[in-house]
Amino acid sequence: MVISMKLGATKEQIDHVCKRIEDFGYRVHSIRGDERVVIAAVGVGEVTHCLDSLEAAPGVESAVRISAPYKFVSRQYQSDKSRIRVEGAIIGGDEFIVMAGPCSVESEKQILDTAAAVARSGARLLRGGAFKPRTSPYDFQGLELEGLKLLRKARQETGLAIITEVMSDRDVELIAEYADVLQIGARNMQNFALLKALGKAGRPVMLKRGLSSTIKELLLSAEYVVSHGNPDVILCERGIRTFETATRNTLDIGAVPVLAELTHLPVILDPAHATGKSSLVPPLARAAVAVGADGLMVEVHPCPEEAFSDGAQSLNPEQFDRMMRDLQPYLALWSATRTNSE
Ligand code: PEP
Ligand code: MN
Repeated sequence: MVISMKLGATKEQIDHVCKRIEDFGYRVHSIRGDERVVIAAVGVGEVTHCLDSLEAAPGVESAVRISAPYKFVSRQYQSDKSRIRVEGAIIGGDEFIVMAGPCSVESEKQILDTAAAVARSGARLLRGGAFKPRTSPYDFQGLELEGLKLLRKARQETGLAIITEVMSDRDVELIAEYADVLQIGARNMQNFALLKALGKAGRPVMLKRGLSSTIKELLLSAEYVVSHGNPDVILCERGIRTFETATRNTLDIGAVPVLAELTHLPVILDPAHATGKSSLVPPLARAAVAVGADGLMVEVHPCPEEAFSDGAQSLNPEQFDRMMRDLQPYLALWSATRTNSE
């Protein structure tokens, strides 16, 4: 933290600020300029509380934080990328990981057919919501426990690992019995009770960026999970809300390299929720590869027209297969870049 005193701050005011800093557990380095006194506080303590308190102290012009507010998820804390093992796949490693499946689990046939198709095309994880966060209470809310059982069956038949959404801290234990990765939806990115419970879930977590959340807020949410005991967090950029209406959300493609600089956690890109339109999924999947994402999450439905949710942004199995084949030359470059930069 750096605290700038006002011009003409008195010795008593400066001494008082130094004492407050020490009371918060920091060490004081004061720099006496020609015109004003600047105080640096170093160490570990309750930063936000300390900053608020100092800003209110007499004679203080400003108190600002200079280090990142998150610790465990930062690149400074761990310079090597985290590799998160999910069954046979490693997320954040040398393989670009594709997670695919329907928005919602709807029926046994729907999920088993989709699972078989996406496995054939090279997906490593099967996605599918059993507990659905719907904007309207009148929309399909998911098959819940029945949906989890169907996902388990699809796992047994295909060997694909399962990623599915958890909406409440009360459901963490139950869903962790069926899922290999727990997905936290955009609307729950700042459900702090849920984030704390995930610390003890014993399963990797994929945290989707909130609709109107900054990258800093996303990283602080990840910090909740890690600081509560679970280091296996994957981040997901899925588009944010802007003034643009041509797409469902606006894909913040820049978030991928920004996150690669700030954190060691893997980053997955979701072009389906970012755009709301299936024709835009393959081009943005290519962009995900080019920008160095660790993988993709894509919605696939045997018949998108009949989907209970998100049909317009879902690929059918043939479109998904074509997308996966068309990605191959880009993936070769992805692998070459990854090997060179490590
Ligand atoms: C989903 O993955 O189906 C979903 C609801 O996504 P998001 O939380 O990003 O809206
Ligand atoms: Mn969806």
